[in-house]
Amino acid sequence: MEFPLIEKKWFKGQKSLAIVYPNLYYGGVYCLAPLIIYNLVNLKTNWACDRLFLDRLKDMKNYDLVGFTWQYELDLRYIKQILNKNKPRYTFAGGPCVIQNPKALEGLIDFFVTGDSEVILPKILEVYSYDKNSFFNAISKISGVYVPKKNKINSYYCDLDIFYPLYQPMPEKIDKNYVFGRCFILEIERGCPFSCKFCALKEQKPRYRSFEEIIEILNNGLLLNQRNKVVIYSASFTHPKRKQILEYLIEKNIRFSVPSIKVEVMDLEILKLIRKSQTSLTIAPECGEHLRIKLGKLARDEEFFKFAKMAKELDFKGIKLYFMVGLPEQNEDDLREMVGFLERFQEYFNNIYASIHPYVSKPNTFLLKEFDKKEIKKQINYLRRNLNIKMKISSVSTAEKIYKIANFP
Ligand code: SF4
Repeated sequence: MEFPLIEKKWFKGQKSLAIVYPNLYYGGVYCLAPLIIYNLVNLKTNWACDRLFLDRLKDMKNYDLVGFTWQYELDLRYIKQILNKNKPRYTFAGGPCVIQNPKALEGLIDFFVTGDSEVILPKILEVYSYDKNSFFNAISKISGVYVPKKNKINSYYCDLDIFYPLYQPMPEKIDKNYVFGRCFILEIERGCPFSCKFCALKEQKPRYRSFEEIIEILNNGLLLNQRNKVVIYSASFTHPKRKQILEYLIEKNIRFSVPSIKVEVMDLEILKLIRKSQTSLTIAPECGEHLRIKLGKLARDEEFFKFAKMAKELDFKGIKLYFMVGLPEQNEDDLREMVGFLERFQEYFNNIYASIHPYVSKPNTFLLKEFDKKEIKKQINYLRRNLNIKMKISSVSTAEKIYKIANFP
């Protein structure tokens, strides 16, 4: 049984929408997109919305609209699997993979939401019609909707203060599979002010939710959901009021966790606040310094070491570092730099853990590269031979599958 749910009484003529997270429920509860749609649609008197998951599906024929949030490339197989068994009247899809490349779903899905659903979806619901032709014609005129063969791919992004999903249902009993535990999700910003060439967010200018709005969301959301832990969602954690947000949470005695940290914008004061609720940190040097700068990630090694020193002094217990292999121009010199960096990093902080990922180049980024499985395996072997630290290496075959889906056709 989930709590809190938006209870809606069914009435004749009411329309219904299902938003599907095409993977398992315990991960999907932390995805903000289905929560936004669940809250947004249920606020409309003549519409009702259900959240569905790969392991919690219903017969989709009964819904007027069925939407998929496509967050991870590999979920494509589940979207196909679900649609093979169910034939909804109309289907749509949104999410980061759609924004990057909706083509992989063309033929399977009727139309795409290529931007912020907060503004786009209500417009779609307003023109909803049983007549396919007039419905597709009408929605093809909405910014941020792409209807294959009717209009061109376009995007639409809105001001974040216009809406927040306060109802965040979670089951009464949760186990260790629920990575963040029972929490309230607080999205403080979208987009990113940095310009890493490999990142799909490079062109999405940062949008920050206002501090006043965040405080109101916290006051109402924590009470409504009866939670005392907040998980902060943001791509770069650069919100101009991030100190005040953390101070507010500390003052209210609310535990919190922050996302991966950009060392170049971190200072002792913020780190001290984070330490009040967290014992470990995540940072992303990505590769050696020379290549890092070429990739548009402008943090120097010295900034990472300065950060490690501060974190050590504040008694953080662990640090996770993200790296990539298979990057354009990445050669043994870069891998040697990475090894040297990690060896020096251990002098400041000995409980470190490196997470190594094969680089998957995505369309619409400035760093395109064919996936070279052989080269990536060679680079991983080099790191295995030369590094004596805890490492988690992502599967090369899985990364190759992701590459093929992301770059379809
Ligand atoms: S800092 Fe992170 S989110 Fe921002 S552009 Fe770089 S990789 Fe993307």
